[in-house]
Amino acid sequence: MSSECRWGQGAGSRERSVPQPEFRLSDEQLERNFADIAPPLTTDAALLEANQCLFCHDAPCTIACPTHIDVPAFIKKIATGNLRGSARVILEVNPFGHSCARACPVEVLCEGACVLNDRDEQPIKIALLQRHATDYVLEHKVKLFKAGKPTGKRVAIVGAGPAGLSCARNLRIMGHAVTVFESRSQPGGLNTYGIAEYKLKADVALAEVQDILDLGVELKTGVTIESIDQLLTQYDAVFVGVGLGNTKKLGIPGEDLPGVLDAITFIEHLKTHPYRETDVGRHVVVIGAGNTAIDAVTQAKRLGAAAATIVYRRSEADMPCYHYEYELAKRDGCGFRFQAAPQRIISNGSGGVSGLEVRTDGGSETIPCDMVIVAIGQGPREALKIPEHPKVFVGGDCANGGAEIVNAAADGVAAAKRIHEMLTGGDANG
Ligand SMILES: Cc1cc2nc3c(=O)[nH]c(=O)nc-3n(C[C@H](O)[C@H](O)[C@H](O)COP(=O)(O)OP(=O)(O)OC[C@H]3O[C@@H](n4cnc5c(N)ncnc54)[C@H](O)[C@@H]3O)c2cc1C
Ligand code: SF4
Repeated sequence: MSSECRWGQGAGSRERSVPQPEFRLSDEQLERNFADIAPPLTTDAALLEANQCLFCHDAPCTIACPTHIDVPAFIKKIATGNLRGSARVILEVNPFGHSCARACPVEVLCEGACVLNDRDEQPIKIALLQRHATDYVLEHKVKLFKAGKPTGKRVAIVGAGPAGLSCARNLRIMGHAVTVFESRSQPGGLNTYGIAEYKLKADVALAEVQDILDLGVELKTGVTIESIDQLLTQYDAVFVGVGLGNTKKLGIPGEDLPGVLDAITFIEHLKTHPYRETDVGRHVVVIGAGNTAIDAVTQAKRLGAAAATIVYRRSEADMPCYHYEYELAKRDGCGFRFQAAPQRIISNGSGGVSGLEVRTDGGSETIPCDMVIVAIGQGPREALKIPEHPKVFVGGDCANGGAEIVNAAADGVAAAKRIHEMLTGGDANG
């Protein structure tokens, strides 16, 4: 984590509610724990890997990608040393190709579909190859795209997450003027504030965003849009990509005790402060079993919790998280309690928590803990009403109920095309 001043006031900050005794890890250990989980390939390793690809026709890896990146084409360009061309193939269809290379659930998308799986071989390391190409253009500041000839049309975008910024990038390439409104002090949405630190760091997320802004996208941070109708009086079209709202409440006693917090707040604090400044209990309980719960429990463990345990009211087979995420948490030494329904969070009597009471098949039980992280899913953003209107377009998590970066990017790209068609009658430009 780099400088914290850019995060502004209230970036996941809160009063310390969990005592932070001597069990905390050293800064060096914390750096190691949050280092990239999938380190980049060397040039030689990338060439070797690229040459393993069969360059399939109707490649299933491409079909499996929501943005339909031409995987064999970009891998072929890596094999011939053309990293710029390779990155272009990727980023042309996925403006968030950098972050997707680090955080996409490739096990269930492109790599899961690779034909080599059918031969009981390891799939091609598509994500790492994608990272190899996209890192090259980011690090060498190669500008692959430019703004199109001005059309005189103005589009407002609400939310600077992957959906909004994907839409913004393509609209700029088509020549439209774009203003993005963002509530937070920094753009990027959950890429900047939410993705597990060992997958994607905020600095990388922000560098990727800057590349898009450099096309001449106007960004207004610290602005929360309250009325789409008002924007419609000033702009020719509006795209809404506001993501999801707060973590849902458990609705059990003790939920508001100090020492209880939601997963998004916990992760955001970790990503926007030096690691040692994020509170972690000695015995952490995470309620929920989705991918966010896994991110919370693994990061609590990596912050130095002696025990970090998922508590889930259903069975192991019912866990909504990806199987590989579950395996990661197990490898990190996290614990799992299934068929344990939270009933009450117990106060320690001195401003913290001492346990979570759960109902099990055998009756009632208390799981001792000094920190509880709630990760039972986010609700919709209800504050902003999105009118049904031919000039209003919606995409990303707020439209699909919560998916992945790549789905948000695909939505933004598709919306830009529809907006362009509406504004120009389909004239190609840029
Ligand atoms: C903890 C967590 C971990 C995740 N890990 C992964 C992962 O590893 N891999 C993966 O592919 N996906 C992951 N996801 C999902 C991924 O982050 C989202 O699918 C993606 O960010 C959705 O993009 P979006 O643009 O729709 O919304 P967001 O990224 O949420 O961006 C929406 C933006 O809109 C802004 N906004 C909201 N309301 C307003 C308003 N009224 N005015 C102005 N601005 C507003 C918000 O501040 C925010 O910046 C994760 C999600 C979570 C919660
Ligand atoms: S399916 Fe596998 S082998 Fe075939 S093109 Fe895709 S990555 Fe290469």
